[in-house]
Amino acid sequence: MRNVIIIGSGCAGLTAAIYAARANLKPLVIDGYEPGGQLTLTTMVENFPGFPEGILGPELIENMRKQAQRFGAEFKAGAVSDVNLSRRPFQVVAGKETYQCGALIVAAGASARLLGLESERKLMGHGVSTCATCDGYFFRGKEIVVVGGGDSAMEEAIFLTKFARRVNLIHRRSEFRASKIMLERARANDKIQFITPSVVEDVLDPGKGAVEAVKIRHAQTQQTATLPTDGVFIAIGHDPNTKVFRGKLEMDANGYLITNNGSKTSVEGVFAAGDAQDHHYRQAVTAAGSGCMAAMDAEKFLEEHKG
Ligand code: NAP
Repeated sequence: MRNVIIIGSGCAGLTAAIYAARANLKPLVIDGYEPGGQLTLTTMVENFPGFPEGILGPELIENMRKQAQRFGAEFKAGAVSDVNLSRRPFQVVAGKETYQCGALIVAAGASARLLGLESERKLMGHGVSTCATCDGYFFRGKEIVVVGGGDSAMEEAIFLTKFARRVNLIHRRSEFRASKIMLERARANDKIQFITPSVVEDVLDPGKGAVEAVKIRHAQTQQTATLPTDGVFIAIGHDPNTKVFRGKLEMDANGYLITNNGSKTSVEGVFAAGDAQDHHYRQAVTAAGSGCMAAMDAEKFLEEHKG
């Protein structure tokens, strides 16, 4: 029986762990599918306050983890396959183990959708990115590709024109899922060039450890071309890692957990933090902030439901 279980070990989960551990709650953190979360997919993080020279994403995560361990947080590798939230203590199944807890913090994050190319994985953080806010600054004066046709792609393309010389927006269809206003804004920006209907087939060149070009194929004529570029931003959406909570916690149509009054979910004693409940800000610092909120809310809940 645990006081608090934290599901997820990204920025939100680790910050919750630091706060819960310092409140003497000896939290158990279940790492999840992607231990460390999305920051482990990036290289330099320059917008996390307190690091004037920037810090590597994996290093920032490792520091947070050590900080949580120093105050008594315990970590278990593996992913949660089932939960029973119908009564307390809550039950959490991970691997062959079933854990029980008085309060639960869900910080399972969201995963950026990827194209599924091997080269994309290899060059992630080395010219391929899933976050324009995080990495746009590295592309001053450069030529960039943005992939996607939704609001995220439009928003990222427009944002990136602050830095880039030119943004090539590549979308697999000629119709766009993006809202009219966002699409019009992107079309009106003369730094953005639309390349449709085209599919990105490969990112070159993993052998050199840097992005040099993308290989694209016209979706109708099947003609292929190589388009030189310095960076590739994948903006084809995110999926929150909340499947296991379907029917158990209130969520929106896209699967993001709904929180009220801070970090409270629809089940008393279950709190949510980070990208699992935030599709809007998605920043390391906002995830960390919400992790802190969840730990403080969980502590208060346990205090009020002692014995
Ligand atoms: P989205 O609306 O689901 O759009 C995803 C886009 O990526 C679609 O154009 C889709 O193409 C494309 N795509 C998906 N998988 C792909 C693949 N494997 N290869 C190539 N292309 C692929 O996702 P989103 O843009 O992240 O938006 C999510 C939600 O947040 C939406 O409700 C959106 O309105 C909202 N949002 C709003 C704003 C804003 O208003 N400022 C900003 C960002 C997001 P197809 O169209 O061909 O399927």
